[in-house]
Amino acid sequence: MKKIISIIILVATLTLVGYVLIKFSKKEESSTQTQNNQKITVVTTLFPFYDFAKNIGGDKVEVSLLLPPGAEPHSFEPRPTDILQISSADVFIYTGDLMEPWVDDLLQGIDSRDLIIIDASQEVDLVKTEHGHGHAHHDHENEDAHESDHEKTLELNNHYQESHLDPHFWLDFSNAQAVVKSIARALKNVQPENQELFENNAERYNLALSNLDQKYHQQLANCSTRKIIYGGHYAFGYLAHRYNLDYIAAQGFSPNSEITAQNLAELTEQTNQEKLNYVFYEELENSKIAEIIAKETNTETLPLSSAHNVSKKDLNENVSFISIMEKNLTNLTKGLNCNFKHE
Ligand SMILES: [Zn+2]
Repeated sequence: MKKIISIIILVATLTLVGYVLIKFSKKEESSTQTQNNQKITVVTTLFPFYDFAKNIGGDKVEVSLLLPPGAEPHSFEPRPTDILQISSADVFIYTGDLMEPWVDDLLQGIDSRDLIIIDASQEVDLVKTEHGHGHAHHDHENEDAHESDHEKTLELNNHYQESHLDPHFWLDFSNAQAVVKSIARALKNVQPENQELFENNAERYNLALSNLDQKYHQQLANCSTRKIIYGGHYAFGYLAHRYNLDYIAAQGFSPNSEITAQNLAELTEQTNQEKLNYVFYEELENSKIAEIIAKETNTETLPLSSAHNVSKKDLNENVSFISIMEKNLTNLTKGLNCNFKHE
């Protein structure tokens, strides 16, 4: 709660500064640049939307990713510079209030009259599931030392638990396509003269997503097991549902949710029962849970990336949402022992 209040105060202070800066910079821009070579500024919270916006906007956009490389997205909170950046952008894309509960307060604190806001969760149907419960048990041991972190973790877990809604909708590629369309619409609203370009780019990108979807269907059709044992948070529910896989994660909807001995025992038991050869670990998060299960069951580990965020190295190497998902498919094909040969 303390954090929320301090954000509100911060936002209020920055509003005035931001307002003056925006007025000043907009005046500057119009007098020194022509309409045509002005880039559309887009700010996004998660990596998938960053990558979509770059693909749709091409050289007409300047896209920024709010999350620092490698940062954990569920507990991210914006810094003052982020708030300024959002308030002076043309388009702001976020996942929704389950993923970024701070957005509502932030938007109330800035002058957003000229800002096009995309709440991506409004473009799709969120799925309700009991799996994302998390285990918000109190860990009294380190309570004093980590009071604020702990408080925040509980707040987040309660947030997910109350709704049972899974925020990881981008891992169903048809949802990703809906978001792509809404981004194209937003860019078109800012620069109507480039409407055709944005629509063509979006169409091309959505075709690539359709091809990816087809590859998933084909490659995962014939496997010795359909069970994904995941030593991370419950992020792949949408993907598992789409390709008829059985997905069991060690944690709830957030990587901050605790893992109980009971969870670990269940995952270990399932791995043994199904005679699996691989368990999966969460790329960019802790791989320890998967390693413990693998050691216990004499299996090996493989990474799966839910693409909320990417590492600094991957960002520098221009990794794409599609290439991340292709790597996931390769690992799923191997880990589930799927019978598929490339022609
Ligand atoms: Zn997540």
